[in-house]
Amino acid sequence: MSQREEYENSLKQEIRQLIKEKNAIMLAHNYQRDEIQEIADVTGDSLYLSQVSADCNAEIIIFCGVHFMAESACVLAPDKKVILPRLEAGCPMADMITAEKLKKWKAENPGIPIVAYVNTTAEVKAESDICCTSGNAISVVNSIEADEVMMVPDQNLAQHTAKHTNKKVRWWKGFCPTHHILKKRDLNKLKEEHPDAKIILHPECPPDVLEMADHICSTSGMYSYCKESTAKKFIMGTEIGILYRLRKENQDKEFFLPEVMICPNMKVTTLEDVHDAIKNLEPVITVPEEIRVKAWSALDKMLKVPRDN
Ligand code: SF4
Repeated sequence: MSQREEYENSLKQEIRQLIKEKNAIMLAHNYQRDEIQEIADVTGDSLYLSQVSADCNAEIIIFCGVHFMAESACVLAPDKKVILPRLEAGCPMADMITAEKLKKWKAENPGIPIVAYVNTTAEVKAESDICCTSGNAISVVNSIEADEVMMVPDQNLAQHTAKHTNKKVRWWKGFCPTHHILKKRDLNKLKEEHPDAKIILHPECPPDVLEMADHICSTSGMYSYCKESTAKKFIMGTEIGILYRLRKENQDKEFFLPEVMICPNMKVTTLEDVHDAIKNLEPVITVPEEIRVKAWSALDKMLKVPRDN
């Protein structure tokens, strides 16, 4: 075993010990570094992790993800202390819309319900009628009585949703840099190397790229689809962190991913950060109560709508 491996192993053991001593729970998003996913109590998408935060008995949540996710945990679990190991772990897509900009849009376009992707700040959720995830966006839009909706902030998820609903869908011009960067040529290159592989894409990818998909779904949908499929090879169109669990849970299958798909914000958190966060119980994330209650309402309405896939 190398010195680095020895060091990492002892750090992992210390983290697990501290988690136990402090009655905490460690949650890791599907895009986190492998070594963080490995020692987390629970891994999953942002909404699932927020629901776990609300339902668990732990007093302290160590949320290994990005800022808006820790905020959602605060919104759904106001009685718990939520800690984000690296405060600067943000989401460029969430930052493409602010509550002020959304308020202005609403004033100029009265009466159009706002559907906010969960990848938004609590303040933006508080200004929205209902939230959605990449796994329920179509069902959420169909659940709204109005004939027209505004989806924020991801233009690609909105355009994908628009193709599967009779409602008129408008969209904000935001995007996830990690998914928006994907090009058809990246997939074609992998497809040439692995012609029998299925192409599974996240709806945050651009519309022209999504045309190449055998299946389009959320990260949670990807785990179940690949597990249940009889295919043996898959080309995945989402952040590289998805590969850790896919490979662990499907050892008889092969997974390939375009090398451009790395989110720097998801990779900023290290084992050392998690160790220091649980030891010092900071940085703590909070959401003002007035905003929390409104954001909770938008999330709660969404939770009553079933998943698309
Ligand atoms: S992968 Fe995209 S949506 Fe997720 S945190 Fe990174 S920039 Fe934001």
